[in-house]
Amino acid sequence: MTTADQFQQHVLPTYGRFPFVPVRGEGVRLWDDAGKSHIDFCSGIAVCSLGHCHPRLVEAIREQAGRLMHVSNLYQIPQQAELAEEINTQHVKLPGKVFFSNSGAEANDGLIKSARRFGHKRPQADGTPRCEVITFQMSFHGRTLGAMSATGQAKIQEGFDPLLPGFRYLPFNDVAALQAGIRPETAAILLEPIQGEGGVNPATPEFLRAVAALCKKHDLLLFFDEVQAGFGRCGDSMAWRMIAPEIEPDGISWAKGMGGGVPIGAFWLSDRGMDENGTALSSLMGPGSHGSTYGGNPLVCAASLAVLREIREKDLGAHAILMEARIRETIRSWQFPVVTEVRGSGLLLGVGLDPARIPTPEGKTAALVVVNRLMERGLLVPPAGPNTFRLLPPLNVTEAEIDEALEIVRAVLAEF
Ligand SMILES: *Cc1c(COP(=O)(O)O)cnc(C)c1O
Repeated sequence: MTTADQFQQHVLPTYGRFPFVPVRGEGVRLWDDAGKSHIDFCSGIAVCSLGHCHPRLVEAIREQAGRLMHVSNLYQIPQQAELAEEINTQHVKLPGKVFFSNSGAEANDGLIKSARRFGHKRPQADGTPRCEVITFQMSFHGRTLGAMSATGQAKIQEGFDPLLPGFRYLPFNDVAALQAGIRPETAAILLEPIQGEGGVNPATPEFLRAVAALCKKHDLLLFFDEVQAGFGRCGDSMAWRMIAPEIEPDGISWAKGMGGGVPIGAFWLSDRGMDENGTALSSLMGPGSHGSTYGGNPLVCAASLAVLREIREKDLGAHAILMEARIRETIRSWQFPVVTEVRGSGLLLGVGLDPARIPTPEGKTAALVVVNRLMERGLLVPPAGPNTFRLLPPLNVTEAEIDEALEIVRAVLAEF
């Protein structure tokens, strides 16, 4: 039986999978079951920050696996404490506290629960709890019931209603709509500083600053979903700092790139005071309020520590910015009318396509047509919405690897 046959018989068909069977990886390269090598600019969707099987990450996992893989969160896990300290002092650089989850959706669920708690502690004038979180159209926050309900895309929610109540989706980058959209029951605003799945759409500095100001004015929590954009992917360790560095959020969620391939996510709450007594916001989630059996176990924390330290010590965020410039310059030099624009920051980049120039069979999008052609020529990239494909190489990608990948992109786009 082939892998494809096994999938058909035994795996729920929730993904439309490409006919590609990866079996081995090293750095930016991925080999299929026929021994053919591909350049991987998908990186497991912005997960493999250091590329495949980076020696430092492999060694950290090997060492920790042989020492201690899992113990309960009933105990004090040294790797978890060390990772939280690394995140707070070297990456967020604001006083706060971390909770470890196993995925991005779970991390966002944690933020949503924190918003609900906040809305109970700081209710409306008549004492009714505030329970609404404002999110944005074309956002993506994950697939759990909570994170899916927060996601501003009807196609993600189709057929799953009733959704979790307490969300409203406003147009992204629209200050006036947000000013008009805040209600007495609103407790928090959650947004991706750069929308990833929705097509690689960065928030404008004006919008991000307006969001922060409105949160202050109306006593709302400001949450950034950095699941795809965080930890060097966009240049700075935190993506919002590429847009409006002075903003101090109340909560942040992460996953994807922080683990380099092991399943780990996290959310963070600020230590700032939230009332007249200066009670720390992070105290909202006290003993018994939240939990996860696996979350932050020794194995994944040791792995994530190796990833975050490698990113910091090698300044891979700064490298990502240099590589971004190279990619933008090269694509601009082609002057292909099929390319409408390049959006994003660092190595979270979206190449916008003009669908009118791409013959598209029924049921396919322009992005999928191009992604398939790139794959035939040995370059793996993910789409982002119907008319954009993403370039998500590992943060330590070399100039030569960028050039090799872009030559494939040029050859394919030249056909349109
Ligand atoms: C991928 C993603 C999520 C969901 O993460 P999972 O680990 O798949 O649950 C949430 N938010 C953003 C911005 C993402 O890109």
